[in-house]
Amino acid sequence: MRFILTKELGRLSRWLRILGFDTVYFKEENYSKLLLLALREERIIITRNKTLAERVAAKAVYLKEENLPEQLKKVIKRLNLKIEENKMFSRCVICNKSLEEIEKEKVKERVPEYVYRTQEDFMECPQCKRVYWPGSHWQNIREALNKAGVK
Ligand SMILES: [Zn+2]
Repeated sequence: MRFILTKELGRLSRWLRILGFDTVYFKEENYSKLLLLALREERIIITRNKTLAERVAAKAVYLKEENLPEQLKKVIKRLNLKIEENKMFSRCVICNKSLEEIEKEKVKERVPEYVYRTQEDFMECPQCKRVYWPGSHWQNIREALNKAGVK
C-alpha cells in the first residue's frame, strides 16, 4: 500500500516512512497534479483537506485529527495496515528511498565516533547518502509508537 500526503501532514509522512511505507509528501497546493500522481502511482491520498478528500472519496483518508499519534492510529485502523517489524526503518525518512546496507568501514568518517565504535550495522540512503543505524534513536521511536498504541 502506497500513500501520498498533503502539505499539512509532514510529520505523519516521516512516520509512515519509518514504518516502512512508500510515502510521497506532496507539499504543493496543486491538487490536480496530486490527483494525477496518486492515480498514476496508485497511491492512497491522506489529507486534512476535507474538500480534496470528498473529491476522491474512496481513494482518500480524511484526517480531522490534529495530533500525530491520533493521526497514525486512524490511518492504521482505517486502512487496516499491518505494521511489520522487519519493514520498519527500511526507508529514508527524508527522501522515501529504500535504504541499502553499507559496510561499516565505509561510514567511518560519516558517523559520530562513539556510534562507529558501538554499532555494527549501518544502512545508507541511495539518494541523500544519509547513514542510519539501529541506535537509541530507533528505540525512542519504538517507545513513541507504543505510546500511540501502534505496537
Ligand atoms: Zn535520503
